Amino acid sequence: MTENPSARAANLLHLRQRKLAKGDPVALPLTMSSMFHLPGSPAGYAQYGRFDNPTWDAVEEVLSHLEGADSVAFPSGMAAISAVFFSQLKSGDHILLPSDGYYTPRVLAERFLKPMGVTYDLRATGAFLDGGFEGYRLVFLETPSNPGLDLCDIAAVSAAAHAAGATVVADNTTMTPYGQQPLELGVDILVAADTKAPNGHSDALFGHVSSRDEGIVAAVRDWRKLSGAIPGPFEAWLVHRGLETLEVRFDRMCSSAETIAPRLAGHPKVKALRFPGLADDPSHNLARIQMQRFGLLIGLTLESEEAAETFINRCAMIQPATSFGGVHTSAERRARWGDAVAPGFVRLSVGCEPVEELWAALEAALELA
Ligand SMILES: *Cc1c(COP(=O)(O)O)cnc(C)c1O
Repeated sequence: MTENPSARAANLLHLRQRKLAKGDPVALPLTMSSMFHLPGSPAGYAQYGRFDNPTWDAVEEVLSHLEGADSVAFPSGMAAISAVFFSQLKSGDHILLPSDGYYTPRVLAERFLKPMGVTYDLRATGAFLDGGFEGYRLVFLETPSNPGLDLCDIAAVSAAAHAAGATVVADNTTMTPYGQQPLELGVDILVAADTKAPNGHSDALFGHVSSRDEGIVAAVRDWRKLSGAIPGPFEAWLVHRGLETLEVRFDRMCSSAETIAPRLAGHPKVKALRFPGLADDPSHNLARIQMQRFGLLIGLTLESEEAAETFINRCAMIQPATSFGGVHTSAERRARWGDAVAPGFVRLSVGCEPVEELWAALEAALELA
């Protein structure tokens, strides 16, 4: 078992201190170097910027601490997901993807896995256990799904997929390690986009892969080194800084979402609302079992595309933008990307604004919608 979230957050802030020699900088130095001083035998030393970087090592140490598993850093969430697919799969393999999760893995599978002989099926997150997992080499789940916020039972999927011989991968982007620990619930591999809440300031893309299986981690590291899909040291430095405040930001965002979701649900302009923290949400009971928090995303449906656009674009405290998890509240209409949601469906990412100021702005914008 990993430590409880409070112990993890507290120890995170002192990981670096424990290694410092007298006179070392307290803050993490940013190492921008493609070359390392390397006379003679290279074994055991940093060799080249595509293989090693001390700033990557530092952010990976923090990520490994948070996930309770060895973690490998990538330049984006999709680079992390690609590393899993391309290091684990071979021609003839069959995989299962969520039909309603983040859309890019599906596009990647269609455009690049299929021509290499890796076939895939799609299944809705809310019915992920239905139909079993026989014949799949890899089962990829995302819960809560982005954008629909449906859940699947991570422990039950892992047990059933393992019984069928599959490797189970969870995309934990919507929850972060403070909201949900899929590795504790039995998945083999965790992937996440640190572009979202972990970095948190909307100024860098980043991702990571975590696993307790040494062979998987070694293959993922080899993929990074050989494919060249390496993170920039500056992005690693930014994410290291972001992770130091993730617990505070995530706590504020989740608490505000818990305050705001029932108020939105009771508002006459809101036709439907999904938030796993609401007692009458179809996923609430499962959320209480497998999630430590209910997350920072709220899915709300307004009357029409026009009403949704007015709400998003005229609210003084909504940043209209794609992506989520930043300090500023943001929102978008997911139908504009072709997600299978109603035209008036808004994915709201609750930010760090003091909650009553935020609510007043949301309420005022709903009046215009
Ligand atoms: C954003 C996102 C990704 C991809 O992350 P990038 O950093 O944009 O590549 C993957 N999965 C989920 C659930 C996401 O929300």
